Amino acid sequence: MPRPIQALIHSAALADNLRVARAAAPDAKVWAIVKANAYGHGIERAYPGLQGADGFALLDLAEAEKVRALGWRGPILLLEGVFEPRDLELCSRLNLWHVVHHDAQIDWIATHKTTWPHRVFLKLNSGMNRLGFTPAAFRHAWMRLSGLTQVDDISLMTHFADADGPRGIEHQLAVFEAATEGLPGERSLANSAATLIHARTRAAVRGDWVRPGIAVYGSSPDFPHHDIAHWGLHPTMTLRSRLIAVQTLEAGATVGYGSVFRAEAPMRVGVVACGYADGYPRHCPNGTPVLVDGVRTRLVGRVSMDMITVDLTPVPTAAVGSEVTLWGQGPSGAVLPIDEVARAAGTIGYELMCALAPRVPVTSD
Ligand code: PLP
Repeated sequence: MPRPIQALIHSAALADNLRVARAAAPDAKVWAIVKANAYGHGIERAYPGLQGADGFALLDLAEAEKVRALGWRGPILLLEGVFEPRDLELCSRLNLWHVVHHDAQIDWIATHKTTWPHRVFLKLNSGMNRLGFTPAAFRHAWMRLSGLTQVDDISLMTHFADADGPRGIEHQLAVFEAATEGLPGERSLANSAATLIHARTRAAVRGDWVRPGIAVYGSSPDFPHHDIAHWGLHPTMTLRSRLIAVQTLEAGATVGYGSVFRAEAPMRVGVVACGYADGYPRHCPNGTPVLVDGVRTRLVGRVSMDMITVDLTPVPTAAVGSEVTLWGQGPSGAVLPIDEVARAAGTIGYELMCALAPRVPVTSD
């Protein structure tokens, strides 16, 4: 018998979540963001659920090759563009669109021997201060690109720093509008948070292409303010395992390394085949939610490499073999949003998805 841990990727939920994003920006085309191996889901496993997208946006050539190998003939966008001039060779062969965010990338296009007509997304740094031309340099970059015969089409993009937070998008939106005023080309501005939270109230945010990532992967872009149920999103990744042992504790007994949990009264504790070497966050404290046979209970004791321990008090019927849902879709329609576990661990759903360990077998439904 293999160790009873497993991750499940839910194709129907991916497709549903994509529809939620599309419905929030009905006039826009949708890039499905599949960087970081589709946010840890695996590009091959996520692809069937994401075919309703208008294009795939990703990080590097290896990911682009995977998407082309799966049979996608439509647009693919390299979100950080090429990393060195020779990347343009494969970029051309795979017919990729690419982001241009610094001058060297324009030099590479200008001097590269391929005559393939580039489709580029020129990136404005409107306040994130990671990638992109400053507002002062943006028009000059656009002029340079538009003067190159190798460049067929220039779209304009930016990325919001705080679409889900108190600063919002207004400032960056104003910077974008000023810097791009009068320039032709399609626009792409909105990530998940901007698409869901802001697009309903400001059509301009949507642009021609939206770029929802995390919402499509079943995590709320503004948790804990709103959960996935509020947005009509469904978990796309389930991490599940089983109880491999049950302990009965006396009052005063402790569990696991560091003895960080002490039983106040006699209780049963289940030992789950899942630990930090599977990608379950080691920082999850006592009380982190978990489902046993679909019933909500809590983590007790420290997370160790291969095991965690959970309170079985709310599930008196639980026994060795009982199903444990660490996050995602549990039995009988029970749901444990990844956002809740991430929050307990002091992080975000993105990190948990991306950190799923290679030793966990993954299947899809
Ligand atoms: N667009 C760009 C340029 C990104 O870097 C990302 C992700 O970080 C996204 C879109 C998707 O963002 P989110 O997953 O928050 O929707």
